[in-house]
Amino acid sequence: MILSLAYRTWRSTDARLLWKFGYNFAYKGMRSVQRFKKRLKQGQIFPPFLYISITNGCNLRCKGCWMDVTSPQAKISYEDMCKLIVGARKYGNSFFGILGGEPFMHPDLIRLLEAHPDCYFQIFTNGHFITDEVAAKLRHVGNATPLISVEGSSAISDERRGRKDVLNKTLAGIEACVRNRLITGVATSVCQNNIDDLLSEEWVDELIKRGIHYVWYYTYRPVGPEPTPELALTPEQVLAVRRFAMDMRNSKPIGVVDAYWDDQGAALCPAAIGISHHIGPWGDIEPCPVIQFAGDNIRDNNGDIFKTMTESTFLEEFRNTIPAQTRGCVVLERPDLLKELVERLGARDSTARKSALAELQAMGCLSSQHNPENELPEENWIYRFTKKHWFFGFGAYA
Ligand code: SF4
Repeated sequence: MILSLAYRTWRSTDARLLWKFGYNFAYKGMRSVQRFKKRLKQGQIFPPFLYISITNGCNLRCKGCWMDVTSPQAKISYEDMCKLIVGARKYGNSFFGILGGEPFMHPDLIRLLEAHPDCYFQIFTNGHFITDEVAAKLRHVGNATPLISVEGSSAISDERRGRKDVLNKTLAGIEACVRNRLITGVATSVCQNNIDDLLSEEWVDELIKRGIHYVWYYTYRPVGPEPTPELALTPEQVLAVRRFAMDMRNSKPIGVVDAYWDDQGAALCPAAIGISHHIGPWGDIEPCPVIQFAGDNIRDNNGDIFKTMTESTFLEEFRNTIPAQTRGCVVLERPDLLKELVERLGARDSTARKSALAELQAMGCLSSQHNPENELPEENWIYRFTKKHWFFGFGAYA
């Protein structure tokens, strides 16, 4: 299947975009993890992958969104973003996840991509602002892949995302990306009201027909001011997501990403192992996007991101505490433990709504990707090899 995916991708994108993906993301991404491993041995943890929410502004109002989209729009300035990227590049980082809110509502997004041609960016977007003109600019810079979120059928999308005609606008964005030969992905936060529609072979075939190169299935996290916990998945359904991802890897010419399991099928938390951390729209450094507490900001230490993150007490305590409790998601399984950690370390609420602690208090304990009795080792050799060497526990769960 990997060969037909490679052939399909080669036929549907430009050699220059493929080169940037292969070199800036795959090769330099691998090297950045190698440098991460070396630093680990020296007791220094600086993640090779940074996810940056460049704005909280968004045109949608999704259930389960934690991004203060109703608050006044904040944006990380172009200058601060460049300082962050240049600072991380010094330590081998080349891949950056760009999130929001809706990143295309930030006026300097394309300018940022142009300023860092030797890096690779994955843009988490709802696709509504991707016109042919925007897609042509992305093709011109060549170092970014749009990852477009689809959350259900037309009716479910409108209901879940709080606006009208959401799915059609998203599909129009997808079509503009494909027309402009971009390496394009689709992401879904799998939950009770879309699992039947979107965790299906029919939907994956539809994505392949539409020219999509990879798909990323997350599992729903009931967080934020409107958490809607009834949308969360059962342990059996989370396992079904794992099984489905593996089956699609073996049977469809499409890439299937996950960030929850290692090559042996054992669960992991990217934040707890320190391979990735998140920066909020106000510059606060958080363990991950849904843990909205911080002890540090990108502007600390005159913007020296390496010094700030390697000396962060909150991040260090998070990485020391969570793996001892679970290989899964502490937000789902032990919001009480997370609350205790935040209060013990005096980490500040990094939201505009200043209700993150009360939201944690109100959360019940749910299951997550950690299911030790039912671990499914990777069956596809390329995913097994990649995870075995560059995406595993890095000793956090020893
Ligand atoms: S805490 Fe949960 S949501 Fe955050 S990175 Fe870990 S598994 Fe993912």
